[in-house]
Amino acid sequence: MTATPEHKLAVNLSPAWNESDRLAALAHYRILDTDFEADFDNIVKLACQICDTPTSTITLVDKDRQWFKAEIGMGVRETPLEDTFCKEAILEKDVTIIPDTHKDTRFQSSRYVTDNPHIRFYASANLETQEGLPLGTLCVIDYKPRELNEAQRFALQTLARMAMSQIELRHFLKEKQDGEKRFREMADSINQIVWVTRADGTFDYYNKRWYEYTGLPDGTFDGPEWEKNIPKEDRDIAGPLWEQHLKTGQPFEIKYRLRRADGVYRWVLSRAEPLRNTKGQIEKWYGTCTDIQDLIDARKKAEEANVAKTEFLANMSHEIRTPMNAVIGIANILAKSSPLTQKQLDFIKTLQMSADSLLSLINDLLDIAKIEARTVELESVPFSVTQIVQEVVSMMSVRAQEKGLEFTATSESPGLQHRTFLGDPTRLRQIILNLCSNAIKFTEKGSVQILLHCSPSDKENIENVSIAIKDSGTGIPQDKLETIFQKFTQADNSITRKFGGTGLGLAITRNLTTMMGGDITVESTMGVGSTFTATLPLQVESDKKSGDNDYWSDKSRVEYFQRSAEKSTILLVEDYAANVLVATTFLEQFGYECEVADSGLEAIEKAKRGEIDLILMDVQMHGLNGLEATSMIREYEKKNNLKRVPIIGMTAHVMSGDRERCIAAGMDDYVPKPFNADELQSKISDLLNQ
Ligand code: ADP
Repeated sequence: MTATPEHKLAVNLSPAWNESDRLAALAHYRILDTDFEADFDNIVKLACQICDTPTSTITLVDKDRQWFKAEIGMGVRETPLEDTFCKEAILEKDVTIIPDTHKDTRFQSSRYVTDNPHIRFYASANLETQEGLPLGTLCVIDYKPRELNEAQRFALQTLARMAMSQIELRHFLKEKQDGEKRFREMADSINQIVWVTRADGTFDYYNKRWYEYTGLPDGTFDGPEWEKNIPKEDRDIAGPLWEQHLKTGQPFEIKYRLRRADGVYRWVLSRAEPLRNTKGQIEKWYGTCTDIQDLIDARKKAEEANVAKTEFLANMSHEIRTPMNAVIGIANILAKSSPLTQKQLDFIKTLQMSADSLLSLINDLLDIAKIEARTVELESVPFSVTQIVQEVVSMMSVRAQEKGLEFTATSESPGLQHRTFLGDPTRLRQIILNLCSNAIKFTEKGSVQILLHCSPSDKENIENVSIAIKDSGTGIPQDKLETIFQKFTQADNSITRKFGGTGLGLAITRNLTTMMGGDITVESTMGVGSTFTATLPLQVESDKKSGDNDYWSDKSRVEYFQRSAEKSTILLVEDYAANVLVATTFLEQFGYECEVADSGLEAIEKAKRGEIDLILMDVQMHGLNGLEATSMIREYEKKNNLKRVPIIGMTAHVMSGDRERCIAAGMDDYVPKPFNADELQSKISDLLNQ
């Protein structure tokens, strides 16, 4: 045996690959135990002819056997792996040649040498995957010693590569067939029509649903069949569109009516995507066709229902508003009539407030309904932004005043008061009113400011007008900043109980703003305040250099209201609701502001905030009692060097020593329950005047 490298078997060398990877690759090709095939048979025939040998095989090396995909002169399809040449040959790179097995120490005693078929000569080339894993060999065998010349070696190698290509090709085709089978099974299992056309648009495939839907006999494939099922007017639109997309190769959607098996034409939505080859050319179009008639019907019904709802609301709101006018009107007349007791005035005020909030609720509901039914029409008339802001301020200043809030409007753009814009002043007023009303509602102390700013836009004659409403109120949690703009959403569930409202205001405000082409943003910090900014692109109609309305020109900042003259605030600490009602009625009749705490702890918290002029403290309470609460307030005042708030104790136990105990705890005076109104009033005013 000549000692060229390929003549040495690499039995002791470990291969570059891993045996389990090699076996996995072999399994992946799914070639083992398949039938004989002419293409492989031809390869072994050629190998025998070229190498001039009586025997040739295409051998695949399995876990414990060698299996022949093709063979000449072997007469069997497989043999056990032990003692085989191929098992060793695949460890070599490419070609293995054993000129005389009797001279090779490793094969001398192989049963294939000593026994039938008495192999003397063996040569093989590996069948290698692209990853370099040898699945087996193409080998030629002879029963006498011999050599292969260069040309024969080359041919053996080339034929081995051809055999491997055949294995790859068959595998690819099988995968493709399986893929198509899976696609068809899937397509048949869904409720949509699925179709495939060739690149030129001629039909290639329909799923079962097509035949069920149209009632056409199975296997009807023509394009014209499709067209016959579409009414002419839809075909005139869909046809050219389809042609156009065939040319441009863009995915598309077309709506048209398609005749169902029962003869009814129904709206369908056809969608198609092109499938391109590696060169980017379209090979096929894959499409679906969905019956959308039920959806269309449902939408139509919903729209009709929406219009009916709006009409109903419009009628109802009118019906409700008419008697409400009477209620509000009569309440106003009553409020001005005299003589009236304070209590009667309070009742009338409550009546007015309730009627007002009912009216604004009706207005909000109607607005939302109109917005949803898209029946809001915007006006385009000349108006002045500053004038609208002034109107809003004067409308809202009473409410701000009642809460002791500073309420100001400032223009940051000089000359804005001379500018006339074109747009819908009623809706703009509504936007500003809603934002100001919220700002006042959610602010207990400090200020509400309106800041106006105007800047040129990139469009001619259009200015971006921004109206910011800044308050020093409760603030809004960061995670609620977006949701508060949704219908019926409030930042906190306890809001309705505390402040009322429906959660519609901001939804309406945002909708109106976007309808005007603008935007609304909010910034807020808990406990510090919020700023809502509505920015609207408004068309400038004229820009007078001077005008009657010089209110804003002298001083760009207009203060409408300063904190009202001090009115004494009395903190009533009482945990029994009925007594709260009685006491607050008295206190308000005396003309005081009244705050209520329903526990000793709450009383301490409120007292610490320092806006209380006098405390009326019940002695017997659950939890911390009035005496303990008083001591703690006194301690706090001392520690922080604060002014001593007068505290009057109230108790239903009129026992001797009560007064002493109250004074000892740090109270200034004491009234027995039930109290005498005159006595209470004089004690309070005495202490306040000290
Ligand atoms: P409503 O005021 O009727 O509750 P809105 O839609 O006007 O409804 O407001 C939704 C919620 O947004 C309010 O309930 C409140 O939680 C929050 N909110 C709006 N404006 C302010 C503000 N200026 N300060 C604090 N919270 C606000």
